[in-house]
Amino acid sequence: MKRQVTILGATGSIGLSTLDVVRRHPDRFALHALTANTNVDEMARLCREFRPRVAVMADSRSAEALVQALGQNTETEVLAGEQGLCQVAEAPDTDTVMAAIVGGAGLPPTLAAVRSGKRVLLANKEALVMSGQLFMDAVSESGAELLPIDSEHNAIFQCLPVARNRDLGVDGVRRILLTASGGPFRNHTAEALRTVSPAQACKHPNWSMGQKISVDSATLMNKGLELIEACWLFNARPEQVEVHVHPESIIHSMVEYVDGSVLAQLGSPDMRTPIANGLAWPERIDAGVPPLDLFAIGRFHFERPDLERFPCLRLAAEAYRAGGTAPAVLNAANEVAVAAFLDRALCFADIPAIIERTLAELPVLPADSFDTIFAQDRAARQVAREQIARLPV
Ligand code: NAD
Ligand code: MG
Repeated sequence: MKRQVTILGATGSIGLSTLDVVRRHPDRFALHALTANTNVDEMARLCREFRPRVAVMADSRSAEALVQALGQNTETEVLAGEQGLCQVAEAPDTDTVMAAIVGGAGLPPTLAAVRSGKRVLLANKEALVMSGQLFMDAVSESGAELLPIDSEHNAIFQCLPVARNRDLGVDGVRRILLTASGGPFRNHTAEALRTVSPAQACKHPNWSMGQKISVDSATLMNKGLELIEACWLFNARPEQVEVHVHPESIIHSMVEYVDGSVLAQLGSPDMRTPIANGLAWPERIDAGVPPLDLFAIGRFHFERPDLERFPCLRLAAEAYRAGGTAPAVLNAANEVAVAAFLDRALCFADIPAIIERTLAELPVLPADSFDTIFAQDRAARQVAREQIARLPV
């Protein structure tokens, strides 16, 4: 039986890499649905090649434009908006959902997929960071199969003793060694960080990714979000997760055991590896990734992260410890600050400042319902915008 795949965020970096793996295995995978924000031309191209049963655009204008672009001769039904996204995520005729929308916009459809018990391939780390315990409770309640796609978490998943065990305390695991590339500004001084441009921030040394996660990698907020992600996925305490800057990005993370063994997962920095792992798990399939040439790489390096120059990692760890709605506030403020940086409305060093002020301004509420989380997400976006408006020009 073929897996019926839905890709949330099909036109993005992860979405296109997922389609590349799917394309190589027509015997294993069929496409139920593809979704995108507003890129009608790209979605029309994908619909012509992959012929999904449903395509969803984020708003009705883009959906109408897609209907026009596809013309009469199409088997693809076009839907719009959050309702359409949730509908395809929970449809009975899809069993595998790739959650690859960027940011908090991905939470409602990812949650819909979780609640309907799908195999959920989680790239959209923001969804888990925002809703933590509630998200994991929804996974347990529905019996959804949550598989990590973030390369580090996929590596940890592969290195843990029983692949589906979510409790670090058992089986002799001592620590998770979470690797980080250090981003494009690893060796910049605090002074030099003030004048970096969005284009420089988006030019990651090892990975080709969407703009938002590229900026997050440059500020180390990506590692902060991943620290929180690791704590939820693997039931770890933050002190059990140690970030190791590894500029080669070949070791994707490691698991240390009480007997002194450290297991690592290595590979080229190519997201098709973790994507193929999640799509076919527990089997292995060709991902189109060339074999790793360790002779060409030659050496591996490791450093401690510098929390003075890159405060976002500290802010994320503090927000996780504060608990409740603090991680949702951290995430929302970061999304607003990164978007403003990309629009050249603030400088790189202002990103952590805006997040810190937003966290300070909002109370930490118990994260006891998704309504509370969405309300705090909206409040934090508002506060972050006000903080940006107050910055000296
Ligand atoms: P991207 O910007 O390349 O793609 C984002 C996708 O989401 C696009 O298809 C876009 O149309 C869609 N989208 C954006 N806003 C939307 C909205 N409001 N409503 C509906 N759809 C919307 O991003 P990406 O690099 O592919 O990252 C996607 C997710 O995967 C992020 O959460 C990121 O942190 C995570 N991730 C990415 C990588 C990577 O290598 N790119 C690695 C690990 C994790
Ligand atoms: Mg990652």
